[in-house]
Amino acid sequence: SSISPGPVEHLSQTDLFIALKTTGRYHRLRLELLLDTWISRNLPQTYVFTDGEDERLRKRMGSHLINTNCSAAHTRQALSCKMALEYDTFLNSGKKWFCHVDDDNYLNVGSLLKLLSQYSHTQDVYIGRPSLERPIDAIETLSITEMKQVRFWFATGGAGFCLSRGLALKMKPWVSEGRFMATAEHIRLPDDCTVGYIVEALLGGSLTRSALFHSHLENLGLVSDIHNQVTLSYGTVENSRNTVNVKGPFSMKEDPTRFRSVHCQLYPDTSWCPSLW
Ligand code: UDP
Ligand code: MN
Repeated sequence: SSISPGPVEHLSQTDLFIALKTTGRYHRLRLELLLDTWISRNLPQTYVFTDGEDERLRKRMGSHLINTNCSAAHTRQALSCKMALEYDTFLNSGKKWFCHVDDDNYLNVGSLLKLLSQYSHTQDVYIGRPSLERPIDAIETLSITEMKQVRFWFATGGAGFCLSRGLALKMKPWVSEGRFMATAEHIRLPDDCTVGYIVEALLGGSLTRSALFHSHLENLGLVSDIHNQVTLSYGTVENSRNTVNVKGPFSMKEDPTRFRSVHCQLYPDTSWCPSLW
């Protein structure tokens, strides 16, 4: 007998809709690294949601670069404006799974497919890593005089998360055609919390926790078994780097995020990976 359940649904890359959130000032600083690494193998299913036109990126990505016209400010409104467009574009795509990542995430699509194939896209599935050890308490504004406390779990956007089409369709009344921004305002929380609010508090669903998603809020040096993780990230904490631990082929100086080294470990046949390391 096996411990882990077998695949429920055969999935391939074309079943995925990968939404990546970025902003103008990170196009060179963050996005190009992703285009060189994991996006290079997944361009047909990856859509980049940004806030400014960029000729160089347009040449590289064509219609997969989506200029949202959302504000470039790091405000609740601007971020939920992007998430709303990610969702609407997914619904129109007809794909089975919606997955969101940030521009400081490495996405291992092979591991992601393995994980999602254990579920059916017609079921209600919301999967990711909770950013807190406990559910969040929030205040729902029902009217000017009526407030209600709500408690729910949410997946941290910085580690990436996925929604099945079945669940995404049920979310429509609170998300599609501009309603996501109103819902986010209603609860006064960021975009990723708002997704949790809709799934858990409004629809009675629940977050499926996965330890395979990683943000830079955790100590990335402790992540083992890099090959099987779904997402990775990088960041700095008190002037020291927080990255995954991979030996090579590139030095810390050549590859400070470690994403190029991870990519060469996963796909050694990549043209720019040293052939014998
Ligand atoms: N971001 C954005 N607009 C901004 C700032 C950030 O869309 O004004 C995006 C950024 O590109 C990234 C995500 O929001 O995909 C999270 O940003 P960051 O990693 O800088 O902050 P964190 O919340 O992880 O500390
Ligand atoms: Mn980040």
